[in-house]
Amino acid sequence: MTDDFDLIVIGAGSGGVAASRRAAAHGARVLIAEADRVGGTCVMRGCVPKKLMMYAAGFSRELHEAEGFGWTGVAGRFEMARWADAKERELDRLEGIYRTMLAESGVELAPGRARLLAPDTVAVGHRKLRATRVLIATGATPAHGATPGLDLAMTSNEVLNLRQVPSSLLVVGGGYIAVEFASILAGLGAKVTLAFRDSAPLRGFDTDLRTRLAQSLADRGVVVAAGVALRSLERSASGYRLTRADGSVLGAEAALNATGRRPNTTGLGLEDIGVHLDARGAIAVDVDSRTTVPGVWAIGDVTNRKNLTPVAIAEGRAFADTEFGKLRTRMDHRNVASAVFTDPPIATVGQSEAHARKLGPVDLYESDFRPMKTAFAGGSSRTYMKLVVDGLNDRVLGIHMIGTDAPEIVQALAVALTCGATKRDFDRTVAVHPTAAEEFVLMREASRRHSTAASEMP
Ligand code: NDP
Repeated sequence: MTDDFDLIVIGAGSGGVAASRRAAAHGARVLIAEADRVGGTCVMRGCVPKKLMMYAAGFSRELHEAEGFGWTGVAGRFEMARWADAKERELDRLEGIYRTMLAESGVELAPGRARLLAPDTVAVGHRKLRATRVLIATGATPAHGATPGLDLAMTSNEVLNLRQVPSSLLVVGGGYIAVEFASILAGLGAKVTLAFRDSAPLRGFDTDLRTRLAQSLADRGVVVAAGVALRSLERSASGYRLTRADGSVLGAEAALNATGRRPNTTGLGLEDIGVHLDARGAIAVDVDSRTTVPGVWAIGDVTNRKNLTPVAIAEGRAFADTEFGKLRTRMDHRNVASAVFTDPPIATVGQSEAHARKLGPVDLYESDFRPMKTAFAGGSSRTYMKLVVDGLNDRVLGIHMIGTDAPEIVQALAVALTCGATKRDFDRTVAVHPTAAEEFVLMREASRRHSTAASEMP
């Protein structure tokens, strides 16, 4: 039997669900196919359970800080199995919400693995479905290929299913996933070693955030093993051994492979219908998320543009508005804010200092302080903020922060950056006192000025 639709979406993660619901709201007849749990990586095995684990870890510091504020008898013991059971209940609840949202939007959910038989024909289980448009939103999966033996280690999927905190953990990689789990597991009491090849974690972030993150992880007892290429990972009865290019060996009871993710393109029939992949194995798309085959689009991590949930959602809605709402919309990939949920967290929007300096003169405004709550409790953790400002026209080009509440603060400031705010706009904004965020509008004097673009320097 053949069923006809206006749109078939493959993958019910954040991007696919958003696109399918928006298309249905425009009147399209939509089916969404999903082989796993509805909600995808972010909700089921990424952002959401990670943040729930981060909250659990944060209590270790907060309980300690409470004593500085006069509380007594607050010390406790973390039972990870209790957290894991509560987390499963929460994920079940969220999956139920996603299923209800799809049903109430009039989107048909087809459980099963989908395969493109032709640009307008998709097989899901025993069903053969047709649609005038197909959207691929299958996401990505942890990659193992960076170093021999990495397939022996856990990935972020398994870490989120732990029921017991390992006594020691070796984290391989220095990106988002690596630093977040290094920080979280350290907070939960594991002895963590973070091994990566660059000189600082989070390649691509502003250098001042990277160095401060490495320092704060070290201050919390994480062994930061930076700057040496990785050779191989081995497993023995007592745990894991990571051999590095200089011959040094790092060991731990458990290991996490966090060396990146690869797009989920296998088994979709893409090669049979002529959908091109780029050199890194992602589906090649144009600015409107069109693949090389007319009638087939792709969004989110499977296209490896900016691999963030809100970006996938925005790409999916832009596709649906353009194709079904006759509202020509294009996702703007510039100035996308992002956060890294370490302790303290990082958040950033716009250009790093190094990037801005390559393009022209810049003024830097910085603030580095111990927050009131930390100082009172006798803690040493600091907050650092930086504004990167165009030296020619005073426009704020980049906003960077490491410190408590950084993601919440930078989310709001990202609006100002999107609107093209100048440093003078920040200066004429009255502070909310006493907050940490007020420092962003109180930085009067530039800490540094670079009057020449770095590329013009001799
Ligand atoms: P990332 O791309 O952020 O980091 C990958 C890490 O693996 C880097 O440190 C990289 O090193 C290292 N690596 C890659 N290849 C090798 C190799 N051959 N040898 C040694 N090291 C290697 O990937 P993640 O898996 O951490 O995250 C995947 C995506 O998920 C990210 O792009 C991010 O957008 C998203 N994400 C977002 C989060 C958030 O918004 N808070 C949280 C988690 C994930 P090097 O830098 O030297 O190349």
